[in-house]
Amino acid sequence: MQASPPSLTRDDWQVLALPEQGCPVHVLRLDRSGGAAPGNKAFKLHPLLAAAVAGGARCVMSFGGPWSNHLHALAAAGGLRGLETVGLVRGENLATPTLEEAARQGMRLHALAYSAYRRRNDDAFQREMVSRYGPGVLIPEGGDCPAGAGGCLPIGEAIARRFPSGAVVVLATGTGTTLAGITAGLDERFRVIGISALKGALDTAARVQANLDALRASRVARWEIRHDYHCGGFARCNDALQACIHWSDSMGLPLEPVYTGKALLAVRQMLAAGQLDTTLDTTLPLVLVHTGGLQGRRGFAWLGPSA
Ligand SMILES: *Cc1c(COP(=O)(O)O)cnc(C)c1O
Repeated sequence: MQASPPSLTRDDWQVLALPEQGCPVHVLRLDRSGGAAPGNKAFKLHPLLAAAVAGGARCVMSFGGPWSNHLHALAAAGGLRGLETVGLVRGENLATPTLEEAARQGMRLHALAYSAYRRRNDDAFQREMVSRYGPGVLIPEGGDCPAGAGGCLPIGEAIARRFPSGAVVVLATGTGTTLAGITAGLDERFRVIGISALKGALDTAARVQANLDALRASRVARWEIRHDYHCGGFARCNDALQACIHWSDSMGLPLEPVYTGKALLAVRQMLAAGQLDTTLDTTLPLVLVHTGGLQGRRGFAWLGPSA
């Protein structure tokens, strides 16, 4: 039973030279840590699973879509701790490679209609799910809660160890939970830019702030969410994103289109547009957090066989 938190070492950094400018990007490869559940989900889930085990739970449950990195990671990380896992899936499609792998790890899957799935954050609905498919501890979708954010503090701390005088940090956001934890692990010498993978998710900043308030960090980095790099919406793709991912593959940095590809594309487009010059202190090193999610590459035929 592996219960230690995911750790980051010097080997998890990769320097990427961009075509845009002389400015290198220091990539923190979370996709290489977290064992069977690589990426940011391992960090978010660690404290939640530890609390479930400490509380004597035998089963953990959560929500996600057919390609959910969160359910995929929950199946692996929960299974490693000897927990039963239950995935409550949006829509009818349980036949994706993501969910089939989760099922092989022992996750029990239940399809929810879209209308039911919309109620996933509602207390009464959650109690109903636990009594129908549990008993178990219900983990919020995407691990979005203060404990999940707290699990990402070590990512911020690893960045501060590498760049003690500050950095500009870019990462993809969904719920913003990971960004909140990273921000709370840094201080005002750091600037954290979240690239929203969703179209028009204008509540992300409020969710980040709620997690930050709950974490009560004495110092936090400056942070913001950018909404103009979604490439058409969640899990959508355009030519620029495809080209960016093919390019980074060729540089030895595998990305995927849902999150990490959009973060690198945003870095390149902001540099090309001079936006990092005008809004940021470019004397600071530029850090890109690779949040993982590579299992999802299987959902995109144009990527060819998995890297
Ligand atoms: C889930 C996920 C994110 C988003 O994380 P949040 O904490 O919800 O913002 C980013 N990148 C990858 C690869 C993910 O799987």
